[in-house]
Amino acid sequence: ATMPPLLSAIANAGRHGVLVKSAVVLERLGTVTHVAFDKTGTLTDGAPRLTELRALPGTAEDEVLALAAAAEHPSEHPLARAVVAAAREAGLPPRPAEAFTSTPGHGVNALVDGRFVEVGSPARLLDDEQAAGVVAELEQAGHTAVVVKADGRPIGVLGLSDRVRPGAAGAVARLTALTGARPVLLTGDNPRAAARLAAEVGITDVRAGLLPQDKVAAVRELEAAGGKVLLVGDGVNDAPALAAAHTGIAMGRGGADLTLDTADAVITRDELATIPAVVALARRARRLVV
Ligand code: ADP
Ligand code: MG
Repeated sequence: ATMPPLLSAIANAGRHGVLVKSAVVLERLGTVTHVAFDKTGTLTDGAPRLTELRALPGTAEDEVLALAAAAEHPSEHPLARAVVAAAREAGLPPRPAEAFTSTPGHGVNALVDGRFVEVGSPARLLDDEQAAGVVAELEQAGHTAVVVKADGRPIGVLGLSDRVRPGAAGAVARLTALTGARPVLLTGDNPRAAARLAAEVGITDVRAGLLPQDKVAAVRELEAAGGKVLLVGDGVNDAPALAAAHTGIAMGRGGADLTLDTADAVITRDELATIPAVVALARRARRLVV
């Protein structure tokens, strides 16, 4: 049986591991001129590990980790999962947290044993010289540094690192060849860790320290210059930018949460190589339709 080209291309994309929402989306994928990537959980495998634990004077290392893990427990952020896993591996008994709040691009806070615990980005939480020195040292070494505060005072700094996804450099190179435009890295992480990752995957246009709304602004800026942006991001944290982009593809985290309400397409297999494959497929389908 012969299917219309767009429908058969959607089925084909599905076999490649990309769930495409509609024929309209597939058509748009075929017109993409620029590709922008989120970093954490997109170009990296999304499973960072806690590699450094620094307590500031007055607090024990175990206490820093236990308080941070309690506050992070309800969060689904990859950094939060790493902190919780490290506390479990260290054999620290879990502690209950109340009044949990999460601020995308910043971090979390909660009440733990009656103390107000904040865990998140140095850009937001840092106002202390001693902690700033530790943050600079960890970031210089390529870590994502996260500050832990209790009742408004810094008590420690955590260093987290994750691995580049296999195939990331190849996918970036193929997309560069397909679009003829330099891919862009949009990340909330610090400029030092961002630059290190970008160099590894072959991206030279790096925009770091972005809040979710800054990612939206970056996408709009590229589109205002005539670009049709394909944003590859995290379905949970990058929802506004995914919605703002000409086309948004979310990493499906192995199918755990297929967020087709925020993105136009979802990668059901954790492989970045599927993205250039689907863009090429969408272009061929367009040529058959037009
Ligand atoms: P990315 O753009 O790299 O995916 P996010 O926008 O998710 O990063 O987060 C940006 C920064 O905000 C992180 O590098 C971290 O400093 C901080 N952050 C966000 N969520 C959390 C969290 N749950 N725990 C600790 N830090 C967080
Ligand atoms: Mg992310």
